[in-house]
Amino acid sequence: MKQKDIAALLDEPACAHNQKEKSGCSKAKPGATAGGCTFDGAQIAMLPIGDVAHIVHGSIACAGNSWDNRGTRSSGPTLYKIGMTTDLTEQDIIMGRGEKRLFHSIKQAIDSYQPAAVFVYNTCVPALTGDDMVAVCKDAQTRWGTPVVPIDAAGFYGAKNLGSRIAGEAMVKYVCGTREPDPLPEGIEREGFKIHDICLIGEYNIAGELWRVLPLFDELGLRVLCTLSGDGRFREVQTMHRSEVNMMVCSRALVNVARKLQDTYGTPWFEGSFYGVRDVSQALRDVARILGDPDLSARVEAVIAREEARANAALEPWRQRLQGRKVLLYTGGVKSWSVISALQDLGMTVVASGTRKSTEDDKARIRELMGEDAVMLEEGNPRTLIDMVNAQGIDILIAGGRNMYTALKARIPFLDINQEREFGYSGYAGMEELAKQLCLTIESPVWEAVRRPAPWARAVIAELAADAAPVVAVNEAESIAVESSHA
Ligand code: SF4
Repeated sequence: MKQKDIAALLDEPACAHNQKEKSGCSKAKPGATAGGCTFDGAQIAMLPIGDVAHIVHGSIACAGNSWDNRGTRSSGPTLYKIGMTTDLTEQDIIMGRGEKRLFHSIKQAIDSYQPAAVFVYNTCVPALTGDDMVAVCKDAQTRWGTPVVPIDAAGFYGAKNLGSRIAGEAMVKYVCGTREPDPLPEGIEREGFKIHDICLIGEYNIAGELWRVLPLFDELGLRVLCTLSGDGRFREVQTMHRSEVNMMVCSRALVNVARKLQDTYGTPWFEGSFYGVRDVSQALRDVARILGDPDLSARVEAVIAREEARANAALEPWRQRLQGRKVLLYTGGVKSWSVISALQDLGMTVVASGTRKSTEDDKARIRELMGEDAVMLEEGNPRTLIDMVNAQGIDILIAGGRNMYTALKARIPFLDINQEREFGYSGYAGMEELAKQLCLTIESPVWEAVRRPAPWARAVIAELAADAAPVVAVNEAESIAVESSHA
């Protein structure tokens, strides 16, 4: 990929980071391995398209980088679960066999699995040796008649977010607009009930979250042409140009897709969230507002009234158990405010929210929800999080999987909210699941058990108490015990 193309992707006008002094996405920092490379971002963004053969062109280690580490689900094909790589070795590099191996790998994938399409992800080594993967993909497509899409996202180009954009760019460039949507079945549309086509961008169907909201769209007469990319199919991505409105769901990683579809096909887009009763209702209202269909608006209001009443009744017993509980939320980007709204719906108090990957817009929304005194954590190293929990009497830490061990070692109740989560929390029904998981986590008897002083510490405490010594904190007593055992 040329330098100017990378610069253009980093300078995304629809991204709020561009409003800041230093425009574009953050650059990878030397030594900061956590967070993923550009290839990682590209693969994460497109891997959920279930009927595509995803080939990683490079050393086998790249393919293992983040293969299927997200709980994205498919309602049908499982081809995306099969790891495919050209497995370049030293000999291949020395002998210049990279392109040849790629060509044969594409053939093997097509012969063995008859995929709807093949996506080829470039990685560092072939990008450095100068393999012309775009030309190979083009030749393979001509030869075997199956769409072959090059995604030139070598790891060293930059950060993970850039990779997602490169993948999104490839979809707009090679896939969108190559097929028309299926015609509507006879008799579906009637007086006062017009079907509208929409797309959801940046919804990855983690733990089946998409399936919690699709029935609402069906009922309202909104046909979801494509979800980029959760439970997606190649033929759906081809029709995205016919969408009447695009919703960016809780992730700006593919914001360039929404913006480019607007520039090219005039499709309006908005940003919304499916977390929390208020936000789901708002998302439905926004779709109806942009489509400007009064019949749809009336249907939306009726569905919202019914679903909110149902959700509120179902949440009431959980709210009583969660009322006033304090939360430390440490997640990134859009979730830093969208989850606040969901937690407030449950009567919980969000004491602080992490804003490491948040934009100025996200921060403004956090302030709106939590007030001007909102505590925003720019850096969330383990010490900062634990100090915050202790100082504020936090009941639960809600964060991504990488903070799990910090929480568990400090004996703090923890709920995973990021991509590895096991449960879907979106939609009206998802709120009940969220409330249930919060209660199960906070009220688990394990916390009382692990916070109890260890037997050896108990003996020290008893001894100290007998000597009428001042009260000693558990950790202090433990360290005394450890010291005396070393003595
Ligand atoms: S693409 Fe490059 S940075 Fe990414 S995993 Fe492969 S070698 Fe590492």
